[in-house]
Amino acid sequence: LSERLGGVFDRLTKQGALSEDDVRTALREVRVALLEADVSLPVARDFVKAVEKKATGQAVTKSVTPGQQVVKIVHDELIGVLAGEGDPGSLRIDNAPAPILMVGLQGSGKTTTTAKLAKRLKDREKKKVLMASLDVNRPAAMEQLQILGTQIGVDTLPIVKGEDPVAIARRAKTQASLGGYDVYMLDTAGRLHIDQELIAQAAAVRDAVNPRETLLVVDGLTGQDAVNVATEFDDKIGVSGVVLTRMDGDGRGGAALSMRAITGKPIRFVGLGEKMDALETFEPERVAGRILGMGDIVALVEKAQATLEQEQAERMMKRFQKGQFNMNDLKMQLEQMMKMGGMEGMLAMMPGAAKMQKQMEGSGIDDRMLRQQVALINSMTKKERANPQILQASRKKRIAAGAGMEVSELNKLLKMQRQMADMMKKMGKMGKGGALKQAMR
Ligand code: GDP
Ligand code: MG
Repeated sequence: LSERLGGVFDRLTKQGALSEDDVRTALREVRVALLEADVSLPVARDFVKAVEKKATGQAVTKSVTPGQQVVKIVHDELIGVLAGEGDPGSLRIDNAPAPILMVGLQGSGKTTTTAKLAKRLKDREKKKVLMASLDVNRPAAMEQLQILGTQIGVDTLPIVKGEDPVAIARRAKTQASLGGYDVYMLDTAGRLHIDQELIAQAAAVRDAVNPRETLLVVDGLTGQDAVNVATEFDDKIGVSGVVLTRMDGDGRGGAALSMRAITGKPIRFVGLGEKMDALETFEPERVAGRILGMGDIVALVEKAQATLEQEQAERMMKRFQKGQFNMNDLKMQLEQMMKMGGMEGMLAMMPGAAKMQKQMEGSGIDDRMLRQQVALINSMTKKERANPQILQASRKKRIAAGAGMEVSELNKLLKMQRQMADMMKKMGKMGKGGALKQAMR
């Protein structure tokens, strides 16, 4: 994939704003990347559409190509979709004993995840945890949880043969209350596929204990199917969060995106192996990079943007402090103002600029005027822009005429430039330019 994208990037090397073509070319590759990562087709399509809207017309950072920039936008958008609200790792387990119901298909990793999570609650949150296996279908399933419990030092409900899942759940609840447990975790049976019996069983358990959290355990490698499973479980039982297992495998974790986009349920944890400590809080950044499979590009774009902005700001700072504020600087400021909602928006952000703001009030500075001022500057030569003090009557006439304006307008612009230069110099002297530096952030 990286190679294919590399090719696209080579072709897209021009600068400026992202054109529709740039965006479309890059997004075609992104769409393939999503599908290769097992993101479901409708989710991939909707996602790409949303990005296309956002990306077209954005300015391109000088040191990266449009293709790279699109990838950065895609990456940010991915994180936006993946991230739920709040901290994924904090479960609602106040009001002891709090029941946590674990559901999912057979082999998805429920039992393993139950034990991992119990260990985490015990070690990190100092909770007293009781685990109970409700899996009456699979022989040795209960023993499996018991063995894990011994291994991690978490109690399990004593096994009573012949009980049904609801009875076990009730017994776990009683035991948890009597034994002073903070949390009791119910590990349910799974099936290879969703069927009505499985759902009915899980629903009966839910009604018996009223769980604070119902965590759906999904195999992160299953891709497409994961979405159907999640939708079904959520519709029938109600899910409060998702745990993606096997994220240590080769899969790219596209299931995460599909699941977030379609069910809207927060992803809480990811399983990263068979060991008992291989459970981590879900990190959208990590999964986003993995889905795209191009973490380096994202890092590169971020670095390029940061470096460029910093270099620019520092260079400008140094010059401003010496009172060097020429027409090029003014032009940049004017263009910035147009972006930021005009003169008032900008001055409001600059310390010590209240006086100038007063002067500007009622002077009719608006977008149209900003554009005219930029036109005046555009009509100057390079030399004139860098040294506006050389402008004499004849030059002024030429410049004003070139922009289709009066010399008096140009004089106003020159006065503004001198005032700004003055102000910058004064601000530069204040506390090593701290104020100005802040104003420029
Ligand atoms: P259950 O049927 O849903 O209870 O699934 P189990 O918890 O019994 O897990 C089935 C298999 O998957 C076991 O061999 C686990 O060790 C393994 N497993 C569970 N979670 C993970 C994980 O995050 N990564 C890996 N590599 N294996 C896992
Ligand atoms: Mg199990």
